[in-house]
Amino acid sequence: MSLQTEILNPRRILNNMQFFQQLSQIKTLNSKVLITIVMGTLSILLGSIVIIGWYTHELTLIQVLPQFVPMQYNTALGFILCGIGILTVLSHHFFISKAVSLAIIFIALLTLIQYIFRVDFGIDQLFMEHYIDLLTSQPGRMAPNTALCFVLTGLAIFIASHQWQGKYKLGTLELIGFFILSLSILALYGYILGAESAYGWSNLTRMAIHTAIGFIFLGVGIITYTWSMETMKIASIPMWIPAVIWLGGLLFDLALPLGVAAGIIYVPLIFCAIWFAQPYASFIFAAIGIFLTILGYFASAPLGENWMVLSNRTLSIFVLIVVSILVYFRRALEIELAGVRLKMEANNTALKRSNEELDNFAHIASHDLKEPLRAIHNHSQFLLEDYENELDEAGVKKLNRLIYLTNRMEKLISDLLYYSRLGREKLAVTETDLNLVISDIKNTMKDQLVSKNVRVKVAEPLPIITCDQVRITELFRNLISNAIKYNDNDEKVIEIGFEEMPENSNVSATRFYVKDNGIGISEEFHIDIFRIFRRLHGPKKYGEGTGSGLTFVKKIVEQHGGKIWCESIPGQGTTFYFTIEREASWNS
Ligand code: ADP
Repeated sequence: MSLQTEILNPRRILNNMQFFQQLSQIKTLNSKVLITIVMGTLSILLGSIVIIGWYTHELTLIQVLPQFVPMQYNTALGFILCGIGILTVLSHHFFISKAVSLAIIFIALLTLIQYIFRVDFGIDQLFMEHYIDLLTSQPGRMAPNTALCFVLTGLAIFIASHQWQGKYKLGTLELIGFFILSLSILALYGYILGAESAYGWSNLTRMAIHTAIGFIFLGVGIITYTWSMETMKIASIPMWIPAVIWLGGLLFDLALPLGVAAGIIYVPLIFCAIWFAQPYASFIFAAIGIFLTILGYFASAPLGENWMVLSNRTLSIFVLIVVSILVYFRRALEIELAGVRLKMEANNTALKRSNEELDNFAHIASHDLKEPLRAIHNHSQFLLEDYENELDEAGVKKLNRLIYLTNRMEKLISDLLYYSRLGREKLAVTETDLNLVISDIKNTMKDQLVSKNVRVKVAEPLPIITCDQVRITELFRNLISNAIKYNDNDEKVIEIGFEEMPENSNVSATRFYVKDNGIGISEEFHIDIFRIFRRLHGPKKYGEGTGSGLTFVKKIVEQHGGKIWCESIPGQGTTFYFTIEREASWNS
């Protein structure tokens, strides 16, 4: 098939149309994608123009100015391939982009190997016989920095074509993009300021000025591509910050005559790792710093005392490694701590949810249990009323016992219901004067206090605190009635008081106490008594109780961000202590 018929082949035209259609249909055709398309296209154009220059012997296209290095034929070819690679990645022709990227890496790597091992594979003049030798160490061979930039670009296109997803893919691409951009800006800076070492390494082939510009296109293209795809950040700082640091470092290194402290300038680069999600970012930056330190050695102008420069750079590399290890450990520790904190928060949320569920369950269960219980109670009552004369004494006794038990069970269920309500209902927080609370309790219990010969001593004035007044009243009432109930003394004394916790203690709280001269509680039960339905005496002894009063008290204290405990000497009395946080932080 002739070239013309091949070009006019309808299937080929259709394919080409589809390709451009796909390009224009890219879902997020935002400004970033558009810039990537423009950069890819510019790269193809640049390469094509120089290739035309090589065929037409138009030196302006190849060299720009007669004193400048030519852009090698292979380099121009590389730009066309890179441009195609970028555009095919965007249009999702990953098979083509992968093939193209491998071809680029292959050519560029072979070129680098030729430099390193001083061999010649014959690839330099494979497509074009060389006829301009200006500033070229080997005829037709692209510069080593050009080859390095191609390896990186090829790698970026390959990574972009790969199915591998996630933020590290984009982070790596972005870093590569910035690296290419730095090297090309460096070369351009060399041309502008006449610093030859910035675009020509050692005495090897130099990078052409339009090659530098071409890599700026590719660098920008890769960076805008990653930005257009970015949904998650891999660092809390933009990537261009480390890029600016390492570019600045390299410029500084090349500009400084003796390369003094070369390499140390990359220490801030390693510190950038502190803002990266992964601790090993410090090693990546250290690797970049080490690479640039070595590069600086070859790229900078030959210096007098070689051993001094060498030892200087070796020492710098050593420092970079040490700093990167330190930053790694610090970052790893930080990440571990953050993980623990996250886990704790998750546990707290789970615990809160499970508590709420438990409260809900207790509420529903106790609510539903009440109904059949009431029915049993009523039926027993009816039985007793209707058949009392027909039953013998034992039968009546059993029925009475049944009624007593249903009554007691109802009380227990009511307590359970109340306990669940305590957990479900939000606190109604107000400024509460505890002096009024206590005097209110004393008033309502007046008869009992007189008949049982109780003296209530209050360390007045009690403070005004922010709390749920109803619940705090209930708390004090419970503790006071227990202090009366569990007391065999003729003269019962109850002391109520408080003390502010010292300012330097880690909680800002007020500690209250309710002290009695009652029967006391032996130490083994000091924790047990706060369990629901836990009583230390038989049902008939010390009045009828359900064993839930202290459980309510504990819940109320905890709802106010405090703690409750008791101290007691059996036979002498008990003191209940509890704290209420001063700041109403628990109220959130
Ligand atoms: P109840 O009073 O209904 O039994 P509580 O939860 O209030 O339930 O108390 C649990 C148990 O703790 C009581 O049965 C009692 O044995 C013990 N107790 C509570 N307060 C005192 C106190 N001030 N002195 C001695 N024992 C107490």
